[in-house]
Amino acid sequence: MVALIAPLQARAACTGPAVVQVLGSGGPDADDARASSGYLLWMDGEARLLVDAGGGVFLRFGEAKAKFESLDAIAITHLHADHVGELPVLLKSGFFSERKRPIPIIGPTGGGQFPGMKEFMKAQFDKKRGAFRYLSGYLDGSGGSVRADIMEISATASSPKAAFGNERFKLTAIGVKHGPVPALGYVVEAGGKRMAFAGDQNGDNPAFAAAIKDADVLVMDHAIPEMPDRTSGQLHARPSEIGMLAAKANVRQLVLSHNMARSLGPLQDNLTLIKQHYKGPIKVAEDLMCVE
Ligand SMILES: [Zn+2]
Repeated sequence: MVALIAPLQARAACTGPAVVQVLGSGGPDADDARASSGYLLWMDGEARLLVDAGGGVFLRFGEAKAKFESLDAIAITHLHADHVGELPVLLKSGFFSERKRPIPIIGPTGGGQFPGMKEFMKAQFDKKRGAFRYLSGYLDGSGGSVRADIMEISATASSPKAAFGNERFKLTAIGVKHGPVPALGYVVEAGGKRMAFAGDQNGDNPAFAAAIKDADVLVMDHAIPEMPDRTSGQLHARPSEIGMLAAKANVRQLVLSHNMARSLGPLQDNLTLIKQHYKGPIKVAEDLMCVE
């Protein structure tokens, strides 16, 4: 007999009171078998927070055996396609779940070429003009859809802002510098741990370093070599800058994610540069890796 559904590859479950799982450890290129950005916070066996929803995260979300029902919130760092492109697909998957309660979605305010989180969601789901207007229930809860409660956090505010909180975890957002792109970094406090997500940034905002002081984990974009082209250097932190940020913030563990051919090629050189400043443990993220 032919099996109709291919079994998922066996994965070690992420267990513990508060554990980060990398869903996507890659960037916007498609040649490295990595999904684009996405991270889950697992708490006692339930996926509670999704940070970013780039390409491939939908598949990894399923492979991780995460459930849409259990998510307390989705936090988007910025509206580059490799961080938010699969958000509509993930929401649609929720249609087939038991979920009834609204899903909070947090993202940055707009600026320049970029809409804010609310305008982005309207562009997807507006009843009249949305690209996926057949799913307009995600904006108003009609048609049995789960309503998205959208919250924008200022990407230019100089101090950390409360983004979400419940009895399980607290989420704080901080505006970070990602070239011309309105972008947020996040800090999650859960299960007695503090976990920081840099999003994409060049490491220039001292408020972010202060906000992640002594964090248990920093998930950092590792997207460029030490001598990048000018544009990439404004968007992302160089390895030496990653090392300085992690050292200044005194984080207990550094996870390098958003990996790309241009940053993995010189990986050993990059690690050497990071270690000149940061003396703690470093992991290079892989898709579905649990960060203990
Ligand atoms: Zn980006």
